[in-house]
Amino acid sequence: MNDEKLNLILFGPPAAGKGTQAKRLVADHSLIQLSTGDMLRAAVASGSDLGEKVKGIMQRGDLVSDEIVIALIEDQIESNPDAAGFIYDGFPRTVPQAEALDAALATRSMGIDSVIRLKVDDDALMDRIKTRFAEQGRKDDNPESFAIRLGNYNKQTAPLLPYYIAQGKLAEVDGMQSIESVSTQVSEVLEMIKAAKSSQKKSFFARLSDR
Ligand code: AMP
Repeated sequence: MNDEKLNLILFGPPAAGKGTQAKRLVADHSLIQLSTGDMLRAAVASGSDLGEKVKGIMQRGDLVSDEIVIALIEDQIESNPDAAGFIYDGFPRTVPQAEALDAALATRSMGIDSVIRLKVDDDALMDRIKTRFAEQGRKDDNPESFAIRLGNYNKQTAPLLPYYIAQGKLAEVDGMQSIESVSTQVSEVLEMIKAAKSSQKKSFFARLSDR
């Protein structure tokens, strides 16, 4: 394992606070945020072929194809060989995406260290999304699109929970608390992961020196 590099997934339904928390981790731990939603919105804004292709799908609240988002993520991992680590925000959203991410990391001697799930309840999400829609005017935050996004999360993304539980990688934090308090909980998980990685490394070197 390339144990210097951290690979963390921030997991949860739309509007759970993944983007907000990812930005804090970037600032506090020098990690790179990989948000497929942000990448796709940038493509739409630039009017590129990719942007034209995904615009309508995103506005409706549907998922774009696995192939597109996997290529975006692989490209970012490849272009940032010196990163201290990555925080995946809004990716993976389907089991094939999770499998592709595991494979892409494995070929670079890395792996997912932890999946941090922000637990929130659906009513609170609806309230949050009304506020975000009013403040930011994101087209897919309108009530119809948001309902589709939540439906897609439950149908296609929630099945990733057993996938990561089976790998022993799921950590849960209470996403209903204040941004500050969620951020403290997320940082605690991160510190535990870092400590576990460094003790694994120590025991690896201890085994080497015992030989
Ligand atoms: P987000 O900002 O993460 O909520 O993403 C906004 C929209 O981009 C989603 O509703 C999807 O249309 C698309 N999208 C973002 N990430 C993915 C992904 N991993 N798989 C499929 N579609 C995605």
